[in-house]
Amino acid sequence: MKQPPAPADSRVVDTLVIGGGLLGSAVAYYLAQAGSRVLLAEKDQINRQASGQNAGSLHFQLEYRMIENGLEAARKAAEAMPLHLHAQQAWAGLEQELGSPLGVAQHGGFMVAETPQQVERLAQKVELERASGLVTDLLDGDEVRRRAPYLGPSILAAAFCPTEGKADPRRCALAYANAAVRLGAELRTACSVTTLARTAHGWQASLEDGSNCRAATIVIAAGAWSGRVAQMAGTVLPVSPVGLTMTATARSAPLVSHLVQHAGRRLSMKQTGEGNVLIGGGWPARLHQEHGIVDLERKPELLLSSLAGNMAAAASVVPGVAHLPVLRVWTGMTALIADQLPLIGEVPRAPGAFIATGGSAFTLGPTYARVLADKVLGKSPVFDVSRYDPNRFASLTFA
Ligand SMILES: Cc1cc2nc3c(=O)[nH]c(=O)nc-3n(C[C@H](O)[C@H](O)[C@H](O)COP(=O)(O)OP(=O)(O)OC[C@H]3O[C@@H](n4cnc5c(N)ncnc54)[C@H](O)[C@@H]3O)c2cc1C
Repeated sequence: MKQPPAPADSRVVDTLVIGGGLLGSAVAYYLAQAGSRVLLAEKDQINRQASGQNAGSLHFQLEYRMIENGLEAARKAAEAMPLHLHAQQAWAGLEQELGSPLGVAQHGGFMVAETPQQVERLAQKVELERASGLVTDLLDGDEVRRRAPYLGPSILAAAFCPTEGKADPRRCALAYANAAVRLGAELRTACSVTTLARTAHGWQASLEDGSNCRAATIVIAAGAWSGRVAQMAGTVLPVSPVGLTMTATARSAPLVSHLVQHAGRRLSMKQTGEGNVLIGGGWPARLHQEHGIVDLERKPELLLSSLAGNMAAAASVVPGVAHLPVLRVWTGMTALIADQLPLIGEVPRAPGAFIATGGSAFTLGPTYARVLADKVLGKSPVFDVSRYDPNRFASLTFA
């Protein structure tokens, strides 16, 4: 769309991408690759929030949070399986595509069970996954320990997915942002988008550095802030911030050679290339609140009960970690959507405003970003993404 001339302090681009985490950086890259003029605005530095603080798990099986609330909830979560299937391929080729080492290793992942009820839950989960096209196998305890001798005697069974693994969260968003800049995208850091207004030709944004940006389309890729940025665009979406806890042990000799998750407790474990064992899996951290409103600018508070619970789960599953000193504990904030499915697409009642956010957006980030870039470019995504359309929440916005 042809835009009228802009004032001197105004940039005119095809797409303004708001947020420089994995999603924003990746969307900027895919759009720049297609020849779009892109401005990527990040209020802090690239990769400072969830995308740089996460556990680095590439989990394609349904996670514990998706199966803990019964079969119906698991079925709903399985509607995201086309994204999981795409993501397992996307990660396999990403280092080559971006020309950058990302620490990607896909040696397989176990979701373990320690009680008969958990084994039953695993069996149902494997059935759901296979029906959706994901390769997972249910193994008994002896077979699990034969493949992964570091797993403890309490493991009765595990679901194994051969493509699961890990990547280094410190590298991925940066690699995407650098690749986007090489393709001509403009990057502005320490530069929050402070207002958004719809114009006859698209969108006008005010930036923290005092400049303006006019764009035919905007992409909201602001992680836990996405709901607030959507409100700037005049739309209400049910994006909730969630505080999470992570622990890293001191370096050790190779011990945990797969991704390990649990079917009945919050737990994810893997060992980095440097030898640190990363322990997480969904233990909460407390979000700060002021008069009932979550303060997204403050780091969530560490809960000792989360640290203790997480370490106890880890030591029960991999007894070898009980002897490793803890090196660092940190908290981070991620975004979850009311119905557990992602939001990918055009925002209700805000034409030209697009959003990509939701759970597991490290694992699924390259896929969310590719699909959203296609939508922004007016192309059909490589698979049907209609069930993740933000319009399912259109009734929340009275326009
Ligand atoms: C502790 C922890 C462990 C996790 N472990 C895993 C895991 O193992 N595997 C997995 O798949 N997922 C994991 N996740 C989830 C995953 O990290 C996130 O889903 C993903 O990183 C989200 O990426 P994003 O780019 O949407 O958000 P972010 O990385 O949070 O980026 C959003 C960016 O938007 C910026 N921003 C906000 N408002 C504005 C504004 N107005 N103007 C400009 N910029 C703005 C923010 O500063 C931020 O940099 C974990 C999350 C946490 C916190």
